[in-house]
Amino acid sequence: MSRILMIGAGGVATVAAFKMAQNADVFTELMIASRRKAKCDRLVEAIHAKGYSMNIKTAEVDADDVDQLKTLFNAYKPELVVNLALPYQDLTIMEACLACGCNYLDTANYEPKDEAHFEYSWQWAYKDKFEKAGLTAILGCGFDPGVSGIYTAYAAKHHFDELQYLDIVDCNAGNHHKAFATNFNPEINIREITQKGLYYKDGEWIETEPLAVHKDLTYPNIGPRDSYLMHHEELESLVKNYPTIKQARFWMTFGQQYLNYLDVIQNIGMARIDEVEYEAPLSSDPTKTAKVKIVPLQFLKAVLPNPQDLGENYDGETSIGCRIRGIKDGKEHTYYIYNNCKHQEAYKETGMQGVSYTTGVPAMIGAMMFVKGLWRRPGVWNVEEFDPDPFMEQLNTQGLPWHEVFDGDLEL
Ligand code: NDP
Repeated sequence: MSRILMIGAGGVATVAAFKMAQNADVFTELMIASRRKAKCDRLVEAIHAKGYSMNIKTAEVDADDVDQLKTLFNAYKPELVVNLALPYQDLTIMEACLACGCNYLDTANYEPKDEAHFEYSWQWAYKDKFEKAGLTAILGCGFDPGVSGIYTAYAAKHHFDELQYLDIVDCNAGNHHKAFATNFNPEINIREITQKGLYYKDGEWIETEPLAVHKDLTYPNIGPRDSYLMHHEELESLVKNYPTIKQARFWMTFGQQYLNYLDVIQNIGMARIDEVEYEAPLSSDPTKTAKVKIVPLQFLKAVLPNPQDLGENYDGETSIGCRIRGIKDGKEHTYYIYNNCKHQEAYKETGMQGVSYTTGVPAMIGAMMFVKGLWRRPGVWNVEEFDPDPFMEQLNTQGLPWHEVFDGDLEL
């Protein structure tokens, strides 16, 4: 018996819900709640249309509002709340979980709406409260963060005495055939990419200009792709949990066309996250106008393609992994562990593209680890702090098989 409440009904939530329906022996009761109930209902219809008979409840909730969340949690009494809404809602959902005695899991660290700033301190500050309440909070259980941390934990457990150099490499070699689109929530994605780069070296954090450092890296079954050094949240927890790491970096591929569009978006002010005044026609009398405040990046999201609609024409694949150098039995070794995921296969199974798939599947597996009692420990934890082995086994059977290369050239 398990009762899960999933918040959000976007691309990632769609995949996680499909995967829970495929594992109905583990997930016996599920509710999906989001800003609009109709969207949750459509998701349930899509799951039933694919032949999964799971009985799924739906509800409407504004996850920015702790009182609304508490009312919902007290009524449904979930054992675990799976937060697949946006990073802005992490703290309100954690607050409501504490108030109502629910456990918590998410896939992205908290970000304030008015400041694109990625760090775990806000969520780690809840550690004592969750511990005292006897509740588990699992942070960052998508692919990166998520599987990237689990791969690292697996490498540390089985292949190294000491991790020294870690490079997380994320390639999307797919083509959605749109001039410009983001693969997950455009607002969150553009905030992330336009930030300064940051990496860890010899105990210090080194900042770089946005996307200023890049090099060709070769991805399995794909070939060389220009890969850009970026800040990514899991670096913060991994260097804390593996203090022998001397250098930790994160790389992501971008095509030239994507970068040109991004440049224009920034240069014309559409990536701004502060409010600007706009003279809008009144709906009651379009001949008159009134000043309204809009956030340019939120407006841009409204006109860009919805990442949930990209799947049908998406071809190619993603390749995400960890390239690690360290010491085993007194000798230096290298290790590369990765998964490749084909967008069309993800689409055929869930109606979503590969980026939603590679995030939603680990979110489901994390929930499964909790439900099975394998990842259950009062406090607030990043994924690498749990045993990676049962999670790694599930990756192989739930659609994200992994591959290993020992002592190859890491190119880094
Ligand atoms: P979407 O925008 O597609 O989905 C977000 C969902 O949350 C939507 O259904 C949205 O409602 C709902 N929502 C937004 N605000 C609220 C609110 N205040 N109250 C209730 N519901 C709300 O995003 P994705 O599915 O692409 O991404 C989901 C999460 O996954 C994000 O946090 C993202 O950062 C993370 N992610 C993590 C990755 C990883 O590897 N770790 C990779 C990719 C994404 P509506 O549909 O009405 O807008």
